[in-house]
Amino acid sequence: MALQRPASLSDAFLERLVQRVPSTSGGSWKLTEVYTGDLLVELPQSAPEDVAAAYARAREVQRDWAATPLKDRLAVFKRAHTLFLDHAQTTTDLIQAESGKNRRMAIEETCDPVMVMSHYLKRAPHLLKPVRRGGPIPLVSSSTEIRQPKGIVGIIAPWNFPFATGISDSISALMAGNGIVLKPDNKTALSPLYGVQLLEEAGLPRGLFQVVCGEGPDVGPALIDHANYVMFTGSTATGRTIGERAGRNLIGCCLELGGKNPMIVLEDADPDEVVQGLMFGAFGNTGQICMHIERVYLPRSQYADYRRRIVAATEALTLGASYDFGPDVGSLVSPDHRDRVRAHVEDAVAKGARVLTGGRVRPDLGPAFFEPTVLEGVTQDMLAGVTETFGPVVALHAYDTVDEAVALANDTDYGLNASVWGGDLDQACAVGRRIESGNVNVNDILATAFASKGTPSGGVKQSGVGARHGDQGMLKYTDTQNLAVLKKQVMGARPGQDYDQYVKGMLGGLKMMRRTRIR
Ligand code: NAD
Repeated sequence: MALQRPASLSDAFLERLVQRVPSTSGGSWKLTEVYTGDLLVELPQSAPEDVAAAYARAREVQRDWAATPLKDRLAVFKRAHTLFLDHAQTTTDLIQAESGKNRRMAIEETCDPVMVMSHYLKRAPHLLKPVRRGGPIPLVSSSTEIRQPKGIVGIIAPWNFPFATGISDSISALMAGNGIVLKPDNKTALSPLYGVQLLEEAGLPRGLFQVVCGEGPDVGPALIDHANYVMFTGSTATGRTIGERAGRNLIGCCLELGGKNPMIVLEDADPDEVVQGLMFGAFGNTGQICMHIERVYLPRSQYADYRRRIVAATEALTLGASYDFGPDVGSLVSPDHRDRVRAHVEDAVAKGARVLTGGRVRPDLGPAFFEPTVLEGVTQDMLAGVTETFGPVVALHAYDTVDEAVALANDTDYGLNASVWGGDLDQACAVGRRIESGNVNVNDILATAFASKGTPSGGVKQSGVGARHGDQGMLKYTDTQNLAVLKKQVMGARPGQDYDQYVKGMLGGLKMMRRTRIR
C-alpha cells in the first residue's frame, strides 16, 4: 500500500509555513518527503541581502524586547510550553516527513524544546538578576554585575535534529532578551519554521525571530557577519569555517560538532541492558545522532557471547517508512547521505573488516534506507575507524584490560560522548572520568546526559567549543556589564595630603580588607 502522508501536512499548510522565508531573488529549493522522494514544498532561498534585511528587522524589534520586563518575556514561554505540547503530533509529522526518522525519535525530538523551556523558566530569573558585588573600598563603593543581551544571535542548525537544534538553542537566547536569525538546513526547514509560528502564537513579537534559508556557503558568511554571537551545530569541518569567521569578526560562538563515540562494557555489566542500550545507541535516529555510538569495546572473555547477542538483536530490528510507531528504524536523511554511509562500509570491507549483519542499501523501502550494520575488524586506516560515519553502522572490538579499553576509547580526535556500562557504579564512574569526552553516560547511551538540562553539555577536542544547557547555556548569550559606583571620591591623595601618609593609610587599608568580611 502506498505511504499516506499525514493529513496535517496539507499543501496549503506547508506553503503558509515557508512564506516567512525572505527571498528577493525568487529562487527556491525542492524540499522533499524523505520516505518517497516526492516534493513537499518549494522552499524560498535567501540571498545575502535578505539575510542583512532579516537582521535589520530583528534588531528593530529586539530593542523593545530587551526592554520588556523579564517576567513578561518569560510569560511567552509559559504559553509556548503548552502550545508546543498541544501541537506535538503536527510537529512530529513535519520532522518525520523532512528527515525520514522513525516516529519514536521524532516524538522525542518534539519534547526537547519543551524541556529546555521548563528548565530556563525556573532558572532565568536567577541567572539574569543583577548581582551586587563588593567594590574596592568597603562601604563607599559597589560593583554590580549586569547581564545584557548580546543583540541578535545567528543560529545555524543541522538536519539530524532540526527542531531541537533550531528551536531549543534559541529559547535561552530569547529569554535573555536577544533576537534570532536562524538558518536551518534546507532539507529540514519545516519543523523549525513551525516552531517559530508556535512561538509567535504564544506572544513572541513578530519579527524578533527570523528564518533565512539557503545553502551554507551562500548565506553563511552574511549570517555570521551581521551576528553578535553565533550558535552552530553541525560537522567539525563546517564548525572550523564558522569559528574562523566569528574569530575574525571578534564575536563569540558556540560550536557543537561531530563525534566518534565509544561505548565501554565492563565485565560486571548486565548483558541484556547492554544489548538493548546499544540497539538505541547505534541505530536510534538511524545512527544520525551526534552522541550515538560507533565503537564498542567488549571484554575479550565475553566477546563471543556479546557478538552473538548483538547480531541477533540487530537482525530483529524492523526497518521501514511509516508515520506510525511501527518501525524500529527509519530512513537516512537523503540518498547522498546513504551513499556516504555505504562508502564507509565498503571502504572498511575492502581493507579487511567483516560485516556481521546488514551492510546493504534498501531501495525496496525508500530512496535512502540502509540496513542496521554491525562490523568487526575495523582499524584506524579505515574511514569507519577514524571519522564519523553518522549512520546505522557500529564496530565491535575486544579488549584485554580496562586500561586498554580506556586508551582505545580516547584514541580519537573527537570527544563528544561516551558510554560506560558496569554493575559497580563507582568503578564505572571511575572509568568514565578517564575518558576525554564532554559527556559520559554510565549505564545509558546519551539521553541521561542530554536530558539533564541543568548541566552544560558540549564537546571537547575536535567535538566543539562551549556548551548548551546549564547556566552557561543561557549566560553565553549575554554580555556582562560591570556597573561600578563610588559614593564619595576617596581614592587617591586629597589636595594637600602628604603622599607618604596617604600610601601608609592605603596599605593599612589593604591589610584590613583581607581580614574583614566587609567587601
Ligand atoms: P554540516 O556541517 O554539513 O551542516 C550544518 C549546518 O551548517 C547546515 O545548516 C548547513 O547548511 C550549514 N553550513 C554548511 N556550510 C556552511 C558554511 N560554510 N557557512 C555557514 N553554514 C554552513 O552538518 P550536517 O551534515 O548538517 O549535520 C551533521 C553533523 O552535525 C554531524 O557531524 C553531527 O555529529 C553534527 N551534530 C552535532 C551535534 C552536537 O550537539 N554536537 C548535534 C547534532 C549534529
